[in-house]
Amino acid sequence: MKRTFGILVLAAVLCLGVMGCGGEQQSSSAKKTKPGAGGGPPDVTTAADLAQEQDAQPINPMQMNCIVCGERPLKGDLHADVTVGNQRGRLYFDKQECLDEFEQNQQKYLDRLTQ
Ligand SMILES: [Zn+2]
Repeated sequence: MKRTFGILVLAAVLCLGVMGCGGEQQSSSAKKTKPGAGGGPPDVTTAADLAQEQDAQPINPMQMNCIVCGERPLKGDLHADVTVGNQRGRLYFDKQECLDEFEQNQQKYLDRLTQ
């Protein structure tokens, strides 16, 4: 009787062992959650961004649009260093023609900045 019992226990242990090996759980595919669905910050270049790259001081850090034509984006290599009041800083433009226009009529556009 004791022997039979022993065999049963052995069988049970073997069975558990087999099940343990065979019962492999499939790893659930980890889905990456998308950050902020829709409506992220618009890709706008400000004078502050451009000036930072050039280690320069923008005359208006929040400038996003060309002060001549009002369009964007501003280009880092199209700029003029101007003085408004007692503040000196860099002003950015979107096109070469706007930079040229500004340089020909500086006072007119600088007046806009002070308003
Ligand atoms: Zn412009």
